[in-house]
Amino acid sequence: MARLRTLAVHAGQRPDRGTGALTTPIYQTSTFAYGGFDRGRRLFAGEEAGYVYTRVQNPTTRAFEEKLAALEGGEAAVAFASGMAAIAALVFTLLAPGDEIVYLGPLYGGTEGLFYDLGRRYGLVITDATDRSLSEAVGPATRMIYVETPANPTLRIHDLREVARVARARGVLSVADNTFATPVLTRPLELGIDLVVHSATKYLSGHGDVVAGAVVGPAALLEPIRAEGLRHLGGVLGPFEAFLLLRGMKTLPLRVMAHAQSAAKVAGFLRDHPAVRRVFYPGLPDHPGHAVAARQMAAFGGMVALDLGSEAAARAFLDGLTLFAQAVSLGDVDSLATHPYSTTHQLVDEAVRRRQGVTPGLVRLSVGLEDPDDLIEDLDRALARVVALEVD
Ligand SMILES: *Cc1c(COP(=O)(O)O)cnc(C)c1O
Repeated sequence: MARLRTLAVHAGQRPDRGTGALTTPIYQTSTFAYGGFDRGRRLFAGEEAGYVYTRVQNPTTRAFEEKLAALEGGEAAVAFASGMAAIAALVFTLLAPGDEIVYLGPLYGGTEGLFYDLGRRYGLVITDATDRSLSEAVGPATRMIYVETPANPTLRIHDLREVARVARARGVLSVADNTFATPVLTRPLELGIDLVVHSATKYLSGHGDVVAGAVVGPAALLEPIRAEGLRHLGGVLGPFEAFLLLRGMKTLPLRVMAHAQSAAKVAGFLRDHPAVRRVFYPGLPDHPGHAVAARQMAAFGGMVALDLGSEAAARAFLDGLTLFAQAVSLGDVDSLATHPYSTTHQLVDEAVRRRQGVTPGLVRLSVGLEDPDDLIEDLDRALARVVALEVD
């Protein structure tokens, strides 16, 4: 089989049958003509494969699904309008009232809301095993183990081989959110995880111009997710977004390795700066997940967090940045910075924030593809404001 960089360029793509167009065209159509009464009947009877309606399948979207499946080493993928649409479709297709999800987090805020608010309203049982023994947390009602790694905002690392081992031993499904690592750094399916979910909004797109999601895994699990989770919940990805993703993913391996190289450099600079209390980066030997990350990641990713000790220091720092934009999301070519305590985690219970490491001084950086030396100069200037604050 071809290697990752080759798959990123070629997988899912074949010259257009009508025109020979090498780049997959944007099939911007809601519906597809049957071409005759009898073919319509055959399509609906499932006797002939073909496109019918874009909520179910579209050629541009299909090319994106094939490219992502190839990169993850999965049999198939189903694309969705957002990462949350993908996770919701997965949960509501595969689980029923009374079923339990055991998770290792912290979870992305949207996923946490989906599990605890909607999920519980529809009868799911949600159990946090982040700081417990996973095999003890799995019980008779458990149907799914859900894991995020690296996880927001302190880049917490979970051992995917261990999750897969427990899931197999107990006969439950394992699901990994691979948004932060991407298949360039970690391929959970190869480590024994059953299904991978993505917010394709982040590194897969890479250019900050798409909201999209996907589920990847064995065809037998994805068929019901397409038939029910996509067709009935309706969170379908548009053909134009699929085209942008196809374009972005051709450079995914190059981008992700460049993000990781720059992030390692940024993390090293921050670690040595006197105004920085603590740096969270799985590539640093003092990160609690460093050894596991070294085993399951090809590099340590493009996300770095730092603790400046107080909200006043974080504010001075963030307002002093010029290259990093203060904005949510991650994985863009543009560098981004967030203050989780006052934004994404503003409404989260203080005890939960403390447990997750969301302190008033915490800043999360998505290191972009600008020259890393310019980024470090930007960080250095902003940190000088923190030093000045302490002198006052
Ligand atoms: C952004 C994100 C999501 C949600 O994806 P959307 O595309 O914003 O719906 C899920 N998981 C992780 C880890 C994310 O970063």
